Amino acid sequence: MTGIEEAANRLIAVGESGRRAGRDPVNLPMVRNWLEAMGDTSPAYTEVAPPAMAQVWTMFGLNGTRSDDDPLGTMIHVLDDAGYTSIVATNCEQTYHRYLRYGDEVALTSTLESVVGPKRTALGEGWFVTTRNTWYVGEEPVAEMLFRVLKFAPKPATPPPPPLIRPVVNRDTAYFWEGTAQGELRIQKCGGCGELRHPPGPMCPHCNETKPTHVVASGLGEVYSYVVHHHPPVPGHTLPFVIALVELEEGVRLLAELVDVAPDEVEVGLPVRIDFAKVDDELTMPVWRRR
Ligand SMILES: [Zn+2]
Repeated sequence: MTGIEEAANRLIAVGESGRRAGRDPVNLPMVRNWLEAMGDTSPAYTEVAPPAMAQVWTMFGLNGTRSDDDPLGTMIHVLDDAGYTSIVATNCEQTYHRYLRYGDEVALTSTLESVVGPKRTALGEGWFVTTRNTWYVGEEPVAEMLFRVLKFAPKPATPPPPPLIRPVVNRDTAYFWEGTAQGELRIQKCGGCGELRHPPGPMCPHCNETKPTHVVASGLGEVYSYVVHHHPPVPGHTLPFVIALVELEEGVRLLAELVDVAPDEVEVGLPVRIDFAKVDDELTMPVWRRR
């Protein structure tokens, strides 16, 4: 049996709490204010108060506190301590035994009826706590209320995935990103002298030719240099991560994240191969893996 169930059984066995007297007798000024707030213009309440005001007569007031033997207050503390920190009222049924008359002195008792749980709800896992309040005038019960709350552990809010820093795709680089989407590592090749170059550019630095083509690289190379990035956080990456500058067999160098290798296991000369990590329909990132 859980501590929650033990506490509930103890409180249920105690039964009715001690009586708590209302602050004022049932009175016309309070009824007038209540009718006004409710928009009720019925002239019926010259001798008796509206039955639905039962709870009003024993409200704590602004600075009131629950009595020590109030079972709902006690169960709230027990459930708070167990991590069920949020509360929502789910059900309230009132029964009226007779009209309250002006001058009636009302007192309230409270009984724990049941504590049921843990239940999975849309709000989170929680316990349904049902209490029965009984209002008395003298020894006569005049109204009752079954009141049910759900005390629940709120589901942690799932933060939206951080936006990824996306590469700029333009006329000079489109061939590269179209390649990664197809699982190809494409390297720009000069249409004039045939020199390979990366990163891509609009003009060959050797012969000034402006109509580049490309080749598909083997994707094999060695770590030429690297950094271990510890800070600041980068959207889409888990810290720390390794960015490696890899020299390809074809002779050009290319930067990408080196995955699946611990930062302290990376070294210059480490043999790696290209792989492709699909981010979404528009973007596939090249990544290095150890060979
Ligand atoms: Zn050239």
